[in-house]
Amino acid sequence: METTKQISALGLLSGGLDSMLAVRLLQEQGIRVECVNFYTGFCIQSHTGAMRNPEPGASPPRHDALHAAQLLGIKLHMVDIAEEYVRIVTDPKHGYGSHLNPCLDCKIFMVSKAWALKEQLGFDFIFTGEVLGQRPMSQRRENLPHIEREAGVEGWLLRPLCATRIKPTEPEKRGWVDRQRLKGFSGRGRRPQMALAAQFGLHDYPSPAGGCCFLTDVNYSRKLQDLWNFRGERAYSMEDIVLLKAGRHLRPAPRFKVIVGRDETENHFLAGIHGANKGDAVRCQGRWALHAVDLPGPLLLVEGHPSEEDLTLACRLTARFGQGRRQAAVRVAIEGNGRQEVRTVVPLPADEIPAEWYL
Ligand code: SF4
Repeated sequence: METTKQISALGLLSGGLDSMLAVRLLQEQGIRVECVNFYTGFCIQSHTGAMRNPEPGASPPRHDALHAAQLLGIKLHMVDIAEEYVRIVTDPKHGYGSHLNPCLDCKIFMVSKAWALKEQLGFDFIFTGEVLGQRPMSQRRENLPHIEREAGVEGWLLRPLCATRIKPTEPEKRGWVDRQRLKGFSGRGRRPQMALAAQFGLHDYPSPAGGCCFLTDVNYSRKLQDLWNFRGERAYSMEDIVLLKAGRHLRPAPRFKVIVGRDETENHFLAGIHGANKGDAVRCQGRWALHAVDLPGPLLLVEGHPSEEDLTLACRLTARFGQGRRQAAVRVAIEGNGRQEVRTVVPLPADEIPAEWYL
């Protein structure tokens, strides 16, 4: 008896609506789908939800890709590419987008990684949820073939949401995928995707406004650029980039910066980072933790090469952002770099904190 091989495809799943729809369009054609989600260190949902006190009534934080995979009934491969991704962020061949987002290099890298996994696991082709012209850099018509060429997957990357507007791919030419049943979405509007979602009975998907990558965020990019300026080189560790996600960051002078916890959860997080490094002379070098001794308030980390006056200023900031801001004097504990002391300081008045200190 003749058997027909079931076609299988591996998709890149962010957990956003577009990638979910791409999965559904292929499932509708009887294709077996699994997906991969890459962890770069800059994924918004991986830390943020767990770092801040939840808003009253807010739903608990969730991982969008895991949630989407569950809804779609597919297996999800979660792959940590953070270490290799450093070179993409620090030295992108094709440059940055409007902030520190190296979208073209990032897409080429992820597609090539997905292809390697496809080869390893024996899928027939790979796909993404890209929509023509939706993103300024990586989804421009002229860049799509370029991404495929540089990733070494020419003709083998299917984009089910905009397939009918671009050249047929091998899976279409070989009759594995019916091109007539794919879509020709383009542009930044979301209406056609939302209509298709309703048609598929998909109602629980993240808002596109939420974004998924810190590198496209103006405030985050400014903090990362500040870190590189301070270091004199484009380099970062995982701890650096996670710390940039937490707290309020101020640089009162080029030689040092402070990070102020904004709520209890962030205070715990910053204390955890400081505590975890206590015994590590190299990593703890140049970092102090400050907090008011007798009053509730933030945990504040000081990083860099502060003078004694700078540490006093950091103590005054600690007092300023805590419950003792209206008191004549506040006792602040300093811990780090072999030092443990308490200083009594006058809280810094709000009008003595220049706007340019804020990163
Ligand atoms: S937004 Fe971030 S994850 Fe997406 S392509 Fe750009 S750099 Fe990569």
